[in-house]
This record gives sequence, structure tokens and C-alpha cells, in this order.
Amino acid sequence: MDCVLLGSGGMMPMPYRFLTALVVRHQGQLYLFDGGEGCQINLKKAKLGIKSLRVMAVSHLHGDHCLGVPGLLMMRAQVPDAPPLTILGPPGIERFVSQIREALGFFIDYPIRFVEWQEAAGEIAYQDDLVRILWHPLKHTTLCLGYRLEEHPRPGKFKPEVAKSLGIPSGPLWGKLQRGEAVVLDSGKTISPQQVVGKPRPGRHICYAVDTRPSKSLYRLCKDVDAAFLDGMFLPEHQMEAEAKGHMTVDEAARIAFRAGARRAVLVHISPRYNDGDMETLAGAALKRFPNAEMGRDLQVVPVPYREE
Ligand SMILES: [Zn+2]
Ligand SMILES: [Zn+2]
Repeated sequence: MDCVLLGSGGMMPMPYRFLTALVVRHQGQLYLFDGGEGCQINLKKAKLGIKSLRVMAVSHLHGDHCLGVPGLLMMRAQVPDAPPLTILGPPGIERFVSQIREALGFFIDYPIRFVEWQEAAGEIAYQDDLVRILWHPLKHTTLCLGYRLEEHPRPGKFKPEVAKSLGIPSGPLWGKLQRGEAVVLDSGKTISPQQVVGKPRPGRHICYAVDTRPSKSLYRLCKDVDAAFLDGMFLPEHQMEAEAKGHMTVDEAARIAFRAGARRAVLVHISPRYNDGDMETLAGAALKRFPNAEMGRDLQVVPVPYREE
């Protein structure tokens, strides 16, 4: 599992920085978080085949997060036999897509399933054989959703020494136990998988939350994640502006990641006012709060390894 940051900027695409969008890649499948204007360009640059895109999760209906969605849908329609796609987002995302489709009359030859957030929807937005995606409303100037992608827990480790000591011959019986099935030995003794397989091990977790002030929901989404991609729009000296516009300063973002026990924080949605020369100052302010914080870069690949056991 790894993450490809398609862009790291906020508000508008700049010549030196694309808009924030994140692709999580897991077992050849792609999960995209936000699609701002121009996001197809870096998707192509990163050589991420759009056919295997399973989910597009849109945080909110501000242009810098959704204006690229129609283009992505059209691009995906050019691939033969594209499988169904799920679009997650706030109420209005389906209307936004269907109105543009109608106005431009473009053709999409794969099914799209829309899931819009509602008060009563519960925290699980999406689930498949590999992952599940949770969502919570954040604290912005409009309804903005934060997401948490969770890999399903992995089966526990098989203990060969224990299996041998119980007299289970190596071979197909070991395989059955590893898959969670009980087996019967020639002696008539039944062995349950729990006897030879350890506890299930947690999967990896990723948080994507931009355009928000610090909040309890943000903390929950970040809790113990392996990587947190967070709004770090401003330097600490622009705190007032961050509060007024519903964003975070880099130190606020780093602090919440640290407190929530995130392993790593990548700060994104960087204000267009900052250029490459400012990155060190921004990173410095974040590092004071969390030694594993950094400023995101366009096309940065963030590997998400399993935790050591
Ligand atoms: Zn934004
Ligand atoms: Zn916004």
C-alpha cells in the first residue's frame, strides 16, 4: 500500500503546485481523495491507470476539490471495459456531476454509484474486499468531509512450532488452519485455528482531511493512523486568517496528528502565497509540534509499511 500525492496546493492550481488530491494504491486498486482542476495531469504523470480507480471521495463542493471530477470521469470513459465506480461526497455531489453531464452531453459507459453523506448515514461510507472508508464532517465554511481509509485486519501469524507439537503434519492441513478452518487429525482429534494462529493483526490506516479547523472529528479520523494527510494551509502568524477561512496553520495540523498518535503527517492544501522558498519555514513550524511532520510535494509517493510487530 502506498499513497501518491497528486497535488499539494489549495484554492487554485498554480504553475508550481497542483491542487491537493491523494491516491491510495492497494493491491493494484486505486482510491482517490478529491479531484481539483487539472488533477488528471499528475494522475497521468504518476502512471496510475484510471481503470482501476474504484472510489472517488470528494471532501466538499468547493471548486478546488471537485472541478476536476468531470474530466476524470470523461478520461475513464476512454478506457475500454472500465468497471463500476463509486463516488462519495457531501449532498449535492450527484447533482453536480449529473448537471455537468447533461450540459456537456458526455457519455459514460460504466456504472457510477453515488453515496452522499447524511446525518443518519453512519460512519462507514464504503466497503469492499480490501478496505473500508469512514467519513466525518469537519469544521469548514461549508459541509466538508474528512475520510479515513482502513485496510481490513490481516489474519494472525501461523505458528509452525505449535502445529508440530500438536502432531499436525505440514501440508494441506496447515493451509486450512491458516485460512481459519478447523481440521481433524487421523487420531480423531479436532484442532481449531485459534490453537495455531495468532490474533488478527490490524491493517494500515490513512486519514485524508483538508479544509478544516482542528476538531474532535478530525482527531477521531487521525487516531493512530499510519499516515495523515492534513490541511496545513498557513504559517502560524496567519492564525486569524486560518480561523476565518476554516483552515489550519501548519503547527495546528502537526499538533493534532501528534496528539492523535499518527505515525506520520503530510501537510497539504498549501496556500498559493507560499512558494518553494517558504517550504522550509512551514516545515520548521510543523516540526516543532511533531517530529514526523512534513510539507507535502506534488507527485510525492508515501509508502505505508506495516508496523513492526
Ligand atoms: Zn480547498
Ligand atoms: Zn473549502
